[in-house]
Amino acid sequence: MFAYGRSNFTWNGTLRELQGSWTERRGPAMTASASSSSGLEVLLSALQSGGDVESTLNILNVLDELLSAGTDRRIHYMISKGGSEALLIALVNAGRSFSPNYTILLPLLHLLAKVGHRDRRIGMKAEEAGAVLLTLNLLRHNAQHSSRAAACLWAIQVFCSSVSTANLIGANHGLDVIYGLIPQYSTKHPHTIKAAIDAFAALLCTKANVSSVVSKGYVSGLLRLYEDWHSKGSEHVAIRHGLLRCLHKVTHSTAGRQAVLCQGGIRLLYETTQTCLLSKGLESLVELSVQLMRKCLPKIPLPLTSDQSAYTFPLPGGPHAVPETDAEPDESSDESDDDDDAEDKPEADYDDDLETDLNKLRLRPDPDRPKELLPQYSRLCPELSHDFQELDLSSEPDESSTASSSSSSDEEAVRLNSFPFRCSRRDRRRSTAHSDSETEAKGHTAAVGQLEARDFHSHSSLLSTSPHFRTVVREARGKAPTGQRGDEQDDEEVDAEESHHRTMIDKLLERHGACIPHHDPKLYRAAAAKTISIPGFSILAFPDFWGHLPPPGHEPMAPRKPNIQRQKVFEDVRRFLNADDIIDQVVFDLEDSSLQCPSDSLRFFSKFECGNLRKAVQVRRYEYDLILNADANCNQHTQWFYFEVSNMVADVPYRFNVINCEKSNSQFNYGMQPVLYSVREALEGRPHWLRTGTEICYFRNHFCPARGRKRTTFYTLTFTITFKHNEDVCYMAYHYPHTYSALKAHLKVLQKSVDPAKVFFQQQNLCGTLAGNWCPVVTITACPASRGWRDMHQLRNRPCIVLTGRVHPGESNASWMMKGTLEFLCSSDPVAQSLREAFVFKLIPMLNPDGVINGTNRCDLNSEDLNRQWSKPDPVLSPTIYHAKGFLYYLNSIGRIPLVFCDYHGHSRKKNVFLYGCSLKETLWQSGSVVNTAGLKEDPGYRTIPKTLDRLAPAFSFNSCNYLVEKSRSATARVVVWREMGVLRSYTMESTHNGCDQGIYKGLQIGTRELQEMGVKFCHSLLSLTKDTKALYSRRINYIDVDHNVLDHKSHNCFEDDEPPCVEEIEYSTDCPTLKGTDLDSDVNSNMASSDEEDEGDEGNRRARHGRGSVGQLQQSSTKSRLFPHPMRQVSSEALSEKRNCVSINGQIIS
Ligand SMILES: [Zn+2]
Repeated sequence: MFAYGRSNFTWNGTLRELQGSWTERRGPAMTASASSSSGLEVLLSALQSGGDVESTLNILNVLDELLSAGTDRRIHYMISKGGSEALLIALVNAGRSFSPNYTILLPLLHLLAKVGHRDRRIGMKAEEAGAVLLTLNLLRHNAQHSSRAAACLWAIQVFCSSVSTANLIGANHGLDVIYGLIPQYSTKHPHTIKAAIDAFAALLCTKANVSSVVSKGYVSGLLRLYEDWHSKGSEHVAIRHGLLRCLHKVTHSTAGRQAVLCQGGIRLLYETTQTCLLSKGLESLVELSVQLMRKCLPKIPLPLTSDQSAYTFPLPGGPHAVPETDAEPDESSDESDDDDDAEDKPEADYDDDLETDLNKLRLRPDPDRPKELLPQYSRLCPELSHDFQELDLSSEPDESSTASSSSSSDEEAVRLNSFPFRCSRRDRRRSTAHSDSETEAKGHTAAVGQLEARDFHSHSSLLSTSPHFRTVVREARGKAPTGQRGDEQDDEEVDAEESHHRTMIDKLLERHGACIPHHDPKLYRAAAAKTISIPGFSILAFPDFWGHLPPPGHEPMAPRKPNIQRQKVFEDVRRFLNADDIIDQVVFDLEDSSLQCPSDSLRFFSKFECGNLRKAVQVRRYEYDLILNADANCNQHTQWFYFEVSNMVADVPYRFNVINCEKSNSQFNYGMQPVLYSVREALEGRPHWLRTGTEICYFRNHFCPARGRKRTTFYTLTFTITFKHNEDVCYMAYHYPHTYSALKAHLKVLQKSVDPAKVFFQQQNLCGTLAGNWCPVVTITACPASRGWRDMHQLRNRPCIVLTGRVHPGESNASWMMKGTLEFLCSSDPVAQSLREAFVFKLIPMLNPDGVINGTNRCDLNSEDLNRQWSKPDPVLSPTIYHAKGFLYYLNSIGRIPLVFCDYHGHSRKKNVFLYGCSLKETLWQSGSVVNTAGLKEDPGYRTIPKTLDRLAPAFSFNSCNYLVEKSRSATARVVVWREMGVLRSYTMESTHNGCDQGIYKGLQIGTRELQEMGVKFCHSLLSLTKDTKALYSRRINYIDVDHNVLDHKSHNCFEDDEPPCVEEIEYSTDCPTLKGTDLDSDVNSNMASSDEEDEGDEGNRRARHGRGSVGQLQQSSTKSRLFPHPMRQVSSEALSEKRNCVSINGQIIS
């Protein structure tokens, strides 16, 4: 850890001087060995050669004086000079004799403990010197002699830093000897008792010793000892702490945890902890006990029949479902986000991940497909072939005309990429947008009718039970022309009711619908009717249909309640202790719609677009466990949730626990709240998704997968919601939802909103998805001023900007940023107009429609992360990536390399919004590569956009940006577009799910307003790239200060953890705290302080009365050496402190 050089130590020089004088006076006997060695080595050599008692004592004293002052560096220096070996040899020499001299042995053992504690190889050295069993023997003989026993125990404790030494002691009954020295509560010899406990804990570092302790039943003994010491008052914290540490070590093994469980350990720990809670001094005991309880709670499989997603989709040409295996999870599989969760990995690994192969960084690989396949993408550049004949007409092409005008290859592509899948008949009918069959076409109409009729779930309970809504409905009904409700019990009645309901919803919309910009519920309903999902959704979630307005004002991050996690863990432990109080009733099951739940429980629902909730279990009256659905066709990636909840009682705190989260930490520990939407509030004119929830925390729990995947650990996200209204219908989500249907409806609204004489806006289909949905591509640019050659030429030479997003379905923030970008680019804002005149925008707002629709978090239906497919995308299994890349190849082939490429993402673990780019030089620098970068030319222009955004966008953080190319990210859009397409400005834009820790939004959670603003500001930053920047700026916006000269070489490693460690331990498998060197020193010193064996017990007791604290105080008062109850001490101490050059050897004072 440290470099120890002689020059570091002033005292070393002193000793060298001393050595000179010593050789002079001592004569030639010592010179041979001393001439080439330092004074310290002389002392060590003298120690080993075993002189008389007095001189040995003196050497020990000098050494102790030297080592007690100053830092650990001195001890490490001594170790480097063979100090440990010298002490061990001296120990063996002294301890072997028939009647060992404890005057020497005691100080030797003490010094050995201090030095050995800092010597990582002390165990091996002790074994080699034969000191291990000798010390154990000394201990056996001095079990009744507390001071000597303690000294032996400390030495044994430090020897156990080596596994083989600990096993050697264990094999020689050391465990039994030492366990025998831990008594029930006693006021005598607390230091020795503590030494025994610490030594016992140290021995438990090996599997063999732990299993031996478990099989001998010592676990029960340790628990009883802890209970006894605990019950006899609030003292002896150090001893109780030590006993808990022993238990911690034991519970590293399954058998140990089992033993604690069987011996009633959890109840004992729980009850003792409750009595400790009030006392601040007992904090460390509470913490250790809580960790122990978490560790020992029995593993409970998730109450699922299978870990496999409830949604399966037969993949073309492959096995139709991923078989469920008991195999261990593939440790090498990269589960981290793009650029997202790399902070999981330590920094060293991160640097290893950097690409250092210059060829890989520089050379473009060959295209992944033949050139002949590229012309098909010419259709995606409609602005190039458009003749703008209608420039003077005010045509408003609707989607059908757009669709029909798009080339036949669209339909071809859809047909190629849509496959039959397991679903209800109705859904198959609904997928007929792309089918010729007449009967199916009829079915399509019927399906739309059905979807429209039902509109949103729980409407009946909402409308029939709430008095308020009854009034609302009655009013609406009064004006409905076809609102009669039939009483006949047949299908017609159902139809009538549905159409009646539909009318009601329309009336409600008329009366209560807010005016939400760029949102039209009826368009949404129409778009949703064509959306194809695996389960065949027929119900709309109310917020998506009705619309969302950001609330007025900002929403600050939620403060974390002190010890909130501990409280929640206690509640979870009580489930185990008082199992009879637990209701344990399934109230929602995605796979069982016939499920009946009690009338007074909450109702859950998630079978709608983007919905994700697999199961809800009522645990207590107001507490529910929620289980999320894994990504389709797969058994993992849970994080995103979106569900409906109803039948609540107002003003009662409900606790929700999402129990199968997978990430090892979450922004929920750092002020983030989930979002909630209340239908009742919306009907009263407040259609807002709001950050809601208290008592939020995220921690590792004791659940395990239902089957297989044994090593998987789950985390609980817990939050408490107090609903405002009785019998409301509410929706809760991980983040502001944004559905695929919302995108389609939005594009339609935008298309209607633009002036076709000014804005060229065209929506096309990139390709069909696996499930048969469309993947929209939008072209936005300015119409030419005229059809004259000059204007048309300018249009055809505008650089391209390619923006993509939502490849990861759980990152809905990406869609909100994209929404801001789209609306801005279509707006009449002068900056937008300038941008349209300068560039052609190509947007693929949702690269993973199927994932978004089916509520997956990470993957597409093929259970692959699409942002790892860009190197060699499969045309059948990853069609959107295959064609997006094909389109980029095409742009390259016609000489229109995009000026900017940016893929919009969300980041689950960081705050702010930031960019990741690609820089060859920075990657080489950061990786410490030996490649000489001096001759490498790199355009620093990749920094212009981030630098501009830093000034323009309040949520943006330049310091979080980074431009490094990682091997593990080599198949992401950002890296592939940079390397293979040669796009200098190729980015991933990452937005927080939480909020900002800098700028004007500091301390606030991010909302849709801020996300949309970010999308707008990104567009603003593009102005900095226009050729005629100055003119544009003076004309449009004066406040942007564009700085092209922005390259600074400060490299930020954005992969280091954004957050300080969480105040409470999220994991429970962490090792219990190890003893610090100073702790041991203080114990050793205190032992030396009491010279009189007879008094020791009482004095020790007096000291220990104040627990751990007193040991610490004692240490302070005894930092100066206390080794020797010997007259010489006085002399040597003076010699050192007053005359630095004086040392006493063999009674002689040398100066
Ligand atoms: Zn992402």
